[in-house]
Parts: sequence; structure tokens; C-alpha cells
Amino acid sequence: DKDPLIHGIQSKIRVVPNFPKPGIMFQDITTLLLDPKAFKDTVDLFVERYKGKNISVVAGIEARGFIFGPPIALEIGAKFVPLRKPKKLPGKVISEEYVLEYGKDCLEMHVGAVEPGERALVVDDLIATGGTLCAAMQLLERVGAEVVECACVIELPDLKGRERLNGKPLYVLVESR
Ligand code: AMP
Repeated sequence: DKDPLIHGIQSKIRVVPNFPKPGIMFQDITTLLLDPKAFKDTVDLFVERYKGKNISVVAGIEARGFIFGPPIALEIGAKFVPLRKPKKLPGKVISEEYVLEYGKDCLEMHVGAVEPGERALVVDDLIATGGTLCAAMQLLERVGAEVVECACVIELPDLKGRERLNGKPLYVLVESR
């Protein structure tokens, strides 16, 4: 049964009200990383779900998708591709803009990192409005990859980000309100 593991994981996530601005309940996963058992349980639950599913690429979203994505990729035998904020990647990139509460942001991926027909898993720490995951999926689909699923440690279900994913499956370990 996964329930005790999930509760252990949830108990290690620190919720910080009004950070980085008033009204935001910040879900701090750095406290989860301080507990090797809870961190490993987190990775293992994803590995258990995705091993044997023929996933060839794990795409991790900057910055906290870079913490959870690589250990999952190594265990399931997939490559890791970083989806980065603008102007960080030195090679040729494709970019996808997305709308934030105030203003815009953008994710970039190296051209040639992912080939047509690859089976991709998108990893981030958290889904709020879903805009970030949506942009990540667009990047992968633009190069002809198939996004098998999106995986996050935490979902904020009240923000209904799941509804923005155009029916693409989303797997989360923990819900927070
Ligand atoms: P969204 O695009 O609205 O789904 O926002 C998801 C991205 O913003 C993820 O990369 C999260 O790390 C970050 N994020 C949004 N809201 C929070 C929150 N309450 N606590 C921690 N990170 C958040």
C-alpha cells in the first residue's frame, strides 16, 4: 500500500504562507530533500509507475523538475532533457511562451535533444494553473514526441490546472489546498 509513503512525503513538504507574495501558499520541497527516506520514496513511486512503459525521455522543468527528473530517468533507463528558462541553453533552441498571473514566461529546449516518435514523461515539482506543463508539452509535441504523462509531486487542485492539459494524463503524489 502506498498510503503510508504518501503521508510521509506530504509531512515533509513545508507550506509557507504569503511567499513569495501575499496570498500564495508556497509548497517548499527543500524540506522533503532533507529526508533521504522521503526523497527516495518520492522517486521510487514515480519509478514504479513508469518503468517498463518504454519511456525514452524524461523532460524536467527548470528548476525543481531538475531535482526529481534525473533520478527517475536513470532508474527507468531514459535520457534526461532540461526544459530551461530563456537564454540558458547554448545550442539552437525552440521556445514556447506561456501566460503567468502577471506577465509572461518562456521555456526552451535544445533542438535535436528529442526526436520524432520518442515517448516522453514531463516532470515538475508542482502543478498550479497548468500553464508551465502546457508549454512543456507543446515543446515536446512540436518536435514530434508523444507525451505519455505529466508527473508532479504536488497538485493544487483548486487552481484546476489539470483542466488545461487538454486531456493529457497527470499523475501526482500529493494534493494541497
Ligand atoms: P503553473 O504554471 O501555474 O502550473 O505553476 C507551476 C510552476 O510554478 C511550477 O514550476 C512550480 O514550481 C511553481 N509554483 C506555482 N505555484 C507554486 C506554489 N504555491 N508553491 C511552489 N511552487 C509553485
